[in-house]
Amino acid sequence: MSKRDFYEILGVNRDASDEEIKKAYRKLAMKHHPDRNPDNPAAEEKFKEAKEAYEILSDGQKRSAYDQYGHAGVDQQAGMGGGGGAGFSDAFGGIFDEIFGGRGGGGSRSNIYRGADLRYNLEITLEQAAHGTETKIRIPTMEVCEPCNGSGAKPGTQPKTCPTCGGSGQVRLQQGFFSIQQTCHKCHGTGRFIAEPCKHCDGAGRIKQHKTLAVKIPAGVDEGDRIRLSGEGEHGVNGGPPGDLYVQIHLKQHPVFTRDHNDLHCEMPISFTAAALGGEIEIPTLDGAAAIKIPAETQSGRVFRLRGKGIKGVRSHTHGDLMCHVVVETPVNLTDHQKELLRELEESSRDNNAKHNPRSKSWMDKVKDFFAE
Ligand SMILES: [Zn+2]
Ligand SMILES: [Zn+2]
Repeated sequence: MSKRDFYEILGVNRDASDEEIKKAYRKLAMKHHPDRNPDNPAAEEKFKEAKEAYEILSDGQKRSAYDQYGHAGVDQQAGMGGGGGAGFSDAFGGIFDEIFGGRGGGGSRSNIYRGADLRYNLEITLEQAAHGTETKIRIPTMEVCEPCNGSGAKPGTQPKTCPTCGGSGQVRLQQGFFSIQQTCHKCHGTGRFIAEPCKHCDGAGRIKQHKTLAVKIPAGVDEGDRIRLSGEGEHGVNGGPPGDLYVQIHLKQHPVFTRDHNDLHCEMPISFTAAALGGEIEIPTLDGAAAIKIPAETQSGRVFRLRGKGIKGVRSHTHGDLMCHVVVETPVNLTDHQKELLRELEESSRDNNAKHNPRSKSWMDKVKDFFAE
């Protein structure tokens, strides 16, 4: 895969100052950050691209290697940055480290990672979405293993300093003109070596458990909205901060209403006689019943708009509307007497069909014209 030029990605000149590079990256990172672009793989890709470019160009040594040898000069170093994984969690790290000054701080930063972000899919009803709700969710979590107190070493023993890297988690390799730093393969960057792993956690220091969290769902949330629970994601590695938990909202199908942003739509079947003669119809809304006056001669497909009976979105100041779509219902299960009445009606309007049924009349005329040609 051919890579884009790092300067081009950040949109800066080759002689850009560190400050200019930082500014350009900050702008791109803000714009493409997954927080602001949920479920947008293109933005996530751009975010990662910018992050990689910044990681190289903000480091004097790496930048000069890149200037001299291009991507070949820094590829191995660049691959190291994310700790191997290039998934969701990786895209979220980095920015906090570089821009907001988070990530544990001090020491060898390369083996301190922010925990992965987690996503929880939460299904709620339309009513809960409209009015807001509070619910409890149970999520899997990696907790510190108690018998070994998180060390991963058999209780009574201690992890030792990794003999390969001397505890730094990094090893230096001489490659061609310059030396390259790589994550230590023996300890995977932890800098520690465990001779006798804890049986309880298999040396991981953490075990899978469940925790229950209370989640407040604000009124007006919609399908796909995400609520961030800061610090409730996976634990960080080697003292790094935890990731975040994103609760992603999914709306259950409602028996009456469908939602379109802040508007609601519903089908409103009315009887054939009510449609012809007019009348008042009671309809449900999310805040109780409301009445609609149906004028005489109402046709199927007509839409009655009830202003303000929709949903007030999380970021909007007013309620949406409720749209009731009229469906005129053909009567069924008629008695002989009722059929007789309808035949009488049919009979009485036959001589003046154009007046009583203008739409069918004009349609019939069009059909006649069509076959006459
Ligand atoms: Zn353990
Ligand atoms: Zn090591």
